[in-house]
Amino acid sequence: VPFDQMDGQIWFNGEFVPWRDAKVHVLTHGLHYASAVFEGERAYGGEIFKLRAHTDRLIESGRLLGFKIPYSADEIDSACNELLRRQGFADAYVRPIAWRGSEMMGVSAQNNRINVAIAIWQWPSYFNPEQRMKGIRLDMAEYRRPDPRTAPSKAKASGLYMICTISKHAAEAKGYADALMLDWRGHVAEATGANVFFVKDGVIHTPDPDCFLDGITRRTVIDLAKRRGYEVQVRTILPEELESFTECFLCGTAAEVTPVAEIGPYSFTPGDISRQLVADYAAEVQPKRAAAE
Ligand code: PMP
Repeated sequence: VPFDQMDGQIWFNGEFVPWRDAKVHVLTHGLHYASAVFEGERAYGGEIFKLRAHTDRLIESGRLLGFKIPYSADEIDSACNELLRRQGFADAYVRPIAWRGSEMMGVSAQNNRINVAIAIWQWPSYFNPEQRMKGIRLDMAEYRRPDPRTAPSKAKASGLYMICTISKHAAEAKGYADALMLDWRGHVAEATGANVFFVKDGVIHTPDPDCFLDGITRRTVIDLAKRRGYEVQVRTILPEELESFTECFLCGTAAEVTPVAEIGPYSFTPGDISRQLVADYAAEVQPKRAAAE
């Protein structure tokens, strides 16, 4: 079923509207000039994992694009929770988005309303579950993550996803599941919708997210790894080093923890550390219900 023809409700500027009625005009600033920011969250067992961290990042992404989201973090959190209840899903994907409206057309959009909507749908597994524990295959992306001096690279901004869609499509056309992107300096950065980790000699390595998204899952995985006693090195990783790593995995809200078997010419074997973190993440996202249970 196409996404605009599903049933249910969408939270749209403070109201719950029928799913099919949640429309925008073609002359919407967000569509023409990518003045939009969004989030991706997952609910497990009826609870949205790290909801406040995502809401704070949504508000911060708006600020980086020069706009103020006209709802408080508490209001957005309640809207997400109430919508999840109305949609009736225990496990689901949550997509808040904020964008400049259609009051003015042109680069300047000083008088445009900041619209906010939230949609929730069922999105079981981002990568093919059969492939998942064997490890997915990644291509090397042609485009690089932009220099922070040329774009608000820390924002989860729609405009930055143009590069991701082009890279993901190019990878899929060659039979890969996704692509690994370098940053503007040529350092290993992230996949098109997930952060990346590597393992060598029992030590975990991941790039410093100084010019790309600092994933909420990434931070969770670093905590989980440290709790297990692993050393985690957040550092510059050069593409020449890929050859020396034995394990590799991606992580993100949609991707969760997904082992990688190949990046272009380099291969990896999902091993103990990847398996451990897949399991630890799965346990961590389960709602921690009151002691009564
Ligand atoms: N990088 C990119 C480009 C992403 O789209 C995502 C998914 N939001 C991530 C990293 C991972 O972020 P998170 O763990 O907060 O979902």
